Amino acid sequence: MAKGVLRLTAPNPGPGTADGTNTYLVQEAEGIVVIDPGPESDEHLSRILQLTHGNIIRILLTHGHPDHCTLAPALAASTGSDIWGYAPNLAPFALDKVLGEGETIGSLTAIHTPGHSPDHLCLSYGDGVLFTGDLVMGWASTVVSPPNGRMAHYFQSLRRLLSRSDIRYLPGHGPPVETPQERAWELLARRMRREAEIADQLSKPVTITALLESHYSHTAPTLRGAARRMVHAHLLKLADEGRVATTDGGETWVSVESAAI
Ligand SMILES: [Zn+2]
Repeated sequence: MAKGVLRLTAPNPGPGTADGTNTYLVQEAEGIVVIDPGPESDEHLSRILQLTHGNIIRILLTHGHPDHCTLAPALAASTGSDIWGYAPNLAPFALDKVLGEGETIGSLTAIHTPGHSPDHLCLSYGDGVLFTGDLVMGWASTVVSPPNGRMAHYFQSLRRLLSRSDIRYLPGHGPPVETPQERAWELLARRMRREAEIADQLSKPVTITALLESHYSHTAPTLRGAARRMVHAHLLKLADEGRVATTDGGETWVSVESAAI
């Protein structure tokens, strides 16, 4: 992984989680920091406690989605550690401490990277290692699901990573990403292409269902819901930019230029 870092994978494999959520144990001078304890699971809790001998000084969350954090309260209760994250009210429980943009705690520095969720943090560690949560993963692209997921923010966060010179990403799901800049660029380029394709189709009114048919017809049925939300997220970004509008409250969309003709 990286010096002083151990990865454990929670037992929640699935189409949206790869082998399961990654929990990282980071060795600090005074004890161990847990990044993303994962979902509620007695088995995962005992593994974390066993490997750390309960010597946990802090729990950090990349974001408040349940697969990353619902084990946190039980882990905090059995170790007396605080739970830290970007926004106190976006997890399903209250956080103890807020970790703001640019703040450093121990050897980790928070980088606010919204898009997948408004409270998403990447955590920068020594030696060019960046914990990327769900922002950049090697095995799949990130789901951006409105209203909490915002495509414009996702673009900005990827651009922010591209402005850095990290050498390895440790994501919230799947294996380490060894070519981080290439991967971040690949993901951004894919979204830019998709946005351009969608915008091109809107010279006449088109429904989200039709857009889904033309772009995601090969998508597995279990991922169809996520694909629909991605298309919607693209449309909302284009609408914010004043380029498209909905004609019926959200299902049918048309480019603003065409609508004006
Ligand atoms: Zn997530």
